[in-house]
Amino acid sequence: MELIKGFEHIVRENEPLAALTRLRLGGVAEYYAEPTNIDELVGLIKRFNEHDLPIRMIGNGSSVVIRDEGVSGLVIHLAAPEFCKIEVNGNKISAGGGVQLAHFVSTAVREGLAGPENFAGLPGTVGGALHSNADANGVAIGTWAQSAMVVTRTGEVLARSRDEMNFAYRQSSLSELAIVSAEFEFESEPSEELTKRLQKLWIVQRASQPAYAENAAYIFKDHGGESASKLIEQAGLKGTRVGDVEISDRDANYFVAGPNATCDEVVRLVELVRSQVNERLEIDLQPGITIW
Ligand SMILES: Cc1cc2nc3c(=O)[nH]c(=O)nc-3n(C[C@H](O)[C@H](O)[C@H](O)COP(=O)(O)OP(=O)(O)OC[C@H]3O[C@@H](n4cnc5c(N)ncnc54)[C@H](O)[C@@H]3O)c2cc1C
Repeated sequence: MELIKGFEHIVRENEPLAALTRLRLGGVAEYYAEPTNIDELVGLIKRFNEHDLPIRMIGNGSSVVIRDEGVSGLVIHLAAPEFCKIEVNGNKISAGGGVQLAHFVSTAVREGLAGPENFAGLPGTVGGALHSNADANGVAIGTWAQSAMVVTRTGEVLARSRDEMNFAYRQSSLSELAIVSAEFEFESEPSEELTKRLQKLWIVQRASQPAYAENAAYIFKDHGGESASKLIEQAGLKGTRVGDVEISDRDANYFVAGPNATCDEVVRLVELVRSQVNERLEIDLQPGITIW
């Protein structure tokens, strides 16, 4: 087939995406690819762009929900070793876009680089986290970013310096299609101190989140410094359910999906929470998840 000619070894058609997301639901990707190097990534992007087909990046699928009818065009996953490299150089870490946040955190803690320990237990990849400037315990990943390598929707490879990047609450200016790698800089702190902090934060996080085995996603952004979890709880919505999707009784900002859950039920529960919080507290909560 002309569209994927030369890329047959890395492209799959009608690939189920549910297992690649935290809620473990939704349909297939029309095309799905795991490029093994930057040339394949760029080549694929150019090819699908020439055919005017949509292209999306997926990381750990922690904040992506797949529609039941599936996703048209191409979904790219930077899971190959080339995109999962991590290197430490003094106070700096260079990480591929596909690096797991858990690996990023453990590397920083081991090397005595302070900050990432705050991300204890946060699911995701470096690329996904930078895309939406993930934050936890009052610190955001963009704070440490010094540069990034990105690929645009037309297949151009660009280097973004610190001056060219802007980060705000759950937002970054890295809106190009793919974040391939990034370099971060940190303050030093004894590794033993960071390990202790990491362990404490991990315990607190585990106690407040739904059980690890559950299919759960963190749904809304905080509102003007107020925690979305508290606002949803204040609106009396803990435990509310639509079909097989339920608001967690541990933390109201988590939706937990049962085995028969659908994307449509997630969307209806999001709408229900937004309208109820608006009606009761006059606050318009914004979702932090993306529905494909
Ligand atoms: C249990 C749980 C707890 C969470 N707690 C928090 C929290 O405390 N704070 C917080 O900020 N978030 C939280 N989240 C959300 C999530 O962890 C972060 O948003 C995470 O950084 C997303 O990374 P990901 O790789 O899973 O991205 P995905 O969910 O796969 O993708 C998210 C977005 O990033 C884009 N993207 C992914 N990879 C790339 C790439 N390489 N280049 C360009 N774009 C890319 C996708 O297209 C999509 O638009 C939580 C999620 C869960 C499930």
